[in-house]
Amino acid sequence: MVQDVLSPATDRARATLLCLAAGDALGMPSQTLPREVIRARYGRITTFVAPFADHPVSHGLRAGQVTDDTEQTLLLAHRLLAAPDRFDARGWSRDLLAWERDVRARGLRDLLGPSSRAALDAMLAGTPVSETGRNGTTNGAAMRIAPAGIATPHGDVGRLVDHVTETCQVTHNTGEAIAAAAAVAMVVSLGIDGASFEQAVPRALQAAMLGQKRGHATGHGDVAGRIRAALDLAASGATEEVFAATVGTSVASAQSVAAAFGLVRMAGGAPWGAALIAANIGDDTDTIGAIAGAMAGACCGSQGVPPEVRATLMAENCLPIDALAADLVALRMRRGAAPGFPAESAS
Ligand SMILES: [Mg+2]
Repeated sequence: MVQDVLSPATDRARATLLCLAAGDALGMPSQTLPREVIRARYGRITTFVAPFADHPVSHGLRAGQVTDDTEQTLLLAHRLLAAPDRFDARGWSRDLLAWERDVRARGLRDLLGPSSRAALDAMLAGTPVSETGRNGTTNGAAMRIAPAGIATPHGDVGRLVDHVTETCQVTHNTGEAIAAAAAVAMVVSLGIDGASFEQAVPRALQAAMLGQKRGHATGHGDVAGRIRAALDLAASGATEEVFAATVGTSVASAQSVAAAFGLVRMAGGAPWGAALIAANIGDDTDTIGAIAGAMAGACCGSQGVPPEVRATLMAENCLPIDALAADLVALRMRRGAAPGFPAESAS
């Protein structure tokens, strides 16, 4: 059998999307549940498990299946590749509405998040796209931003934040959501070029501070500060219980995205380790796991993915990850990325 020979960037792009899917699927059975309910229903989650019967959101899914986080991430990847020169916000709105119709047709309950549904309803009612996302502060933008991080070089922070902002506008046009998505995208973009998670953190905070100034000044006003606090708490050796109670694990971007950063540090940068903590952390477990997985995967590459994890994800889902990763890296190169990570730029 001929082994794939991948460029380091393509390997890390694949790992970004695969580890995002792993974190999503691992947290699928525990999403929306308090920590004590997770413990009572599943014990400690240590691998892919099926949701209990009549789970409020994940009912009908099998162990190892992904949710909206992965599906919308792949949807955004397709959208970025379809119109790489200028983000097509109306096309993206149509994509999301078609996706939700498909979810309903599959008989599943994991539909659009609260910010996205409100924004798309407003757009259909005639509200200009620039206004539709003015109340979107939840983590839907950050959960699916990884393809923008893969496809966008990190050298110019303002340009990266511009690309992130374009993808957020329809549903999450707020400082809180854009700051959170920008931080995640920056880690992914640096990871693709070989940065470790810890090397990427300073510039992720810089991207968050810049993103905070974009969109409507709605929601939490200092996402970078929340991420920094979560990272400090993770480094302090806090227990998962204390970490969850202090940082917060809700759908609010300032909570769940900060939590994802902290979990990656807690896991020493290991994608599967971070995803396992996320699956047990409580509340928005699948999205925290997806975001943590994407960041850690980008910074680790495929060596961070246990082979049986990839095998299960590929068997249980339709994930065109390898092709999308290659195409997103090609787009990154067309946008002027120089291969290799300039270590001095991350310190
Ligand atoms: Mg989900």
